[in-house]
Amino acid sequence: MTTETITVSTDTRLEVVDITPQVKQAIQEDGDGTVTIFSQHTTTGVTINESEGRLLGDFQTALSDLVSDTGWEHDQIDDNADSHVRSMLLGPSETVPVSDGDLQLGTWQSILLIECDGPRSRTLQIVSE
Ligand code: ZN
Repeated sequence: MTTETITVSTDTRLEVVDITPQVKQAIQEDGDGTVTIFSQHTTTGVTINESEGRLLGDFQTALSDLVSDTGWEHDQIDDNADSHVRSMLLGPSETVPVSDGDLQLGTWQSILLIECDGPRSRTLQIVSE
């Protein structure tokens, strides 16, 4: 098992970042197995889907529509309950098969970090096994 750390900077409160290139760089060149991409934060998510600009905009609209910005108990603490709830719906990690050092993603699949409380610097563990 090897673990690499990548850092991703985000620019807006709700944002989708395609982190596939950083994950490719972090895995072993000739490895076979799996790689797990794990975000160490409570207001981000990791998912896999098509990295097409209009779709990513649609996804941000869907997240905003699903989870209200206001009216949450946790807002009395630090005013970001919507970010935590969106993050919990998404989950913190994905696992991808690796063959000969290549991510075995489908043609239209990319690894996406979903920022729910940016802008911030985010740290992800890239664990190859
Ligand atoms: Zn909070």
